[in-house]
Formats: sequence, C-alpha cells, structure tokens
Amino acid sequence: MKVGFIYNPIYLKHDTGEHVEKAKRLVTIMSHLERTGLKSQLVPIEPRAASTRELSLVHERQHIAHIQDIAQKGGGWLDGDTVMSADSFEAALYAVGGAIRATEAVMDGELACAFALLRPPGHHATPERAMGFCLFNNIAIAANYALNKYRLGRVLIIDFDVHHGNGTQAAFYDDPGVLYISTHQYPHYPGTGSIDETGSRLAGGTTINIPLPAGCGDGEYLRVFREIIIPAARRFKPRLILVSAGYDAHWADELAMMQLTVSGFARVVKVIKEMAGKLCSGRLVFSLEGGYNLTALASSVKATFDVLVGNTGIEDKLGPPSYGFEPPDITYLIEQIKEMHHLS
Ligand SMILES: [Zn+2]
Repeated sequence: MKVGFIYNPIYLKHDTGEHVEKAKRLVTIMSHLERTGLKSQLVPIEPRAASTRELSLVHERQHIAHIQDIAQKGGGWLDGDTVMSADSFEAALYAVGGAIRATEAVMDGELACAFALLRPPGHHATPERAMGFCLFNNIAIAANYALNKYRLGRVLIIDFDVHHGNGTQAAFYDDPGVLYISTHQYPHYPGTGSIDETGSRLAGGTTINIPLPAGCGDGEYLRVFREIIIPAARRFKPRLILVSAGYDAHWADELAMMQLTVSGFARVVKVIKEMAGKLCSGRLVFSLEGGYNLTALASSVKATFDVLVGNTGIEDKLGPPSYGFEPPDITYLIEQIKEMHHLS
C-alpha cells in the first residue's frame, strides 16, 4: 500500500533567520529524499490551511488571535526561544492543515500511512500559548479532528522527540480517549514529563511519561518500547496511531544528550509500524517535530520512510557516536513506570 508525505514550500516562509529551527531543515530533508530516489516511491499530498474552528479543537481563541496579530505586525519574539515572521501565521495554518490532511488520507484509505514534513513544529504549544519553537499543536489538533470526524474513541500519540511534549500532554490531560506516551531526556527543556504526571482523575493513566536520563541509546529506546510502550498500546487498543517524530535524540544533535543512531530510529519506527499493523489496521501518521543536526535529521527521516515503504538496508553513514560512552542502566526506571501503570 501507498506511503505518502505532506510538504509545501509555504513551510519555508516561517522565516526564523539563524534560529536552529530554520527552513533549511525541511530543504535538506526534501533534497535528500529527492537525491536518494526515495521521493519517487512516495505519494505527495498537498496540505491545506486549517480553519480557526479546527485550531479551536485545541487552542483558545485568544491564543489564535495573538499569533495572527504578531504576524500582521511583521513578526517578533513570543518568548526567549520562539520567533515568528510575517508569514508564520499562514505557514502554521498549513502545518496544522498538513497534519490533518495526512490523518484524513490514512483514515480514508487513500494511503497506508503518511508523514507530514512540516514546520513550525507543534508539541510544545499548549492550548493557551506558543513556546519551544511551536505556534499551534499540529498533532493534538489532528488527533481531536480524527476523534470527532471518524468517531474513533481512542487515539494513541507516541512522542519520541527528545523533549517532553508538554503542549500535547496538556491538551489531553483530562481526555481518556487519547493515550499520550512520551520518551524524553529528563531533566531537560521544558521541565515537565516526570513519571507521576499520568493524566487527571478523569483520564488517569492515559498519560505515560518515560523520562530518560541523558546518554540513552538504541538499546535503551528499544527496551522502553518493548517493556512499556507496546504493552500499554496493546491494552489501550487505539484505532489510529499518531507519532510526534522529532529526531533530536540523535547523538549528533546539539540540543540534547542522547545517543540514538539513524539505525536506532529505523528500529523504533519498525516497532511502531508493527504495532499499528497489529492494533489498528496499520493506520499510522507521523508529524515532524524537532531534529537540528541537518545530516542526522535528513538521514533519519529517510530511514523512517524506508521502513514505512518496506525497503531493506537502512543507510546510516553517521554510524554510532565516536565519543560513545556507557549508557545508563534504566532497569529501575522501567520497573517504576510499569508498576505505576500496572503493566506487568
Ligand atoms: Zn525536541
């Protein structure tokens, strides 16, 4: 079955200058997919602009109006990390619309799975505010859109970006219909995502945080998937899996201190794909979040597509870290999380 990608040059118009979250990230990904011939194996899907009503599935009107207002004034800094240009509002509407279109294409059976290659990213944007390079929460809006339109009942969001998706967690903290699982370096930006944040009383247990110490690599991530994420997903029985795909846990990424490799990302994606195949007829949508080392990012996105398409032989020119150090023992952490979430 077909694998699709969402992309539009409008995403480059979110002009952040020399900021790490810059247009060149997507340019590098797209040219790498082109150069390696992988793009010809994929179905291109056009994004559309999300409506205010769709943004309101997660965000407060005031926040939407604020972002629109800053864009109309020519842009500016929203906080110490997050900057906008005059076209950022429009780009952000297409980013949300890209995540929605990817979800629709999969739900309607047009595609087996899809990856929305978009920016600005979304998982730090809370219902009330922009932060951490994110304006609107693309994946959270797509999840609510899918829950409403297709009456799904249960959606699983897996977030393997190295930072905790505080915005996504906040959007669904009271919602038992969305299981949010995040692996992230901890403590690290944005500071949230400890193991005892498990969802409110109304939605107890539908937030699973896996706060990993710095230095975790392929082995630790695979263990976490095997011992926590797969059993939790199996118990939840999602009807769609959405993935906040950030690649900043790669060892070469300067924004964090994990040791994942391109091959490691490919193995993680393979686990997620198999999970979707077993649990929800393969329905799987990826949405780009972070990843700031351009070579690692482009190679990891390509490896993701290779796995989704079913290509064998993942190219990993960067290999393992040259400075590689002994990864931490996460046995106790895994046991704690399993106990907390009754996963035995
Ligand atoms: Zn990140």
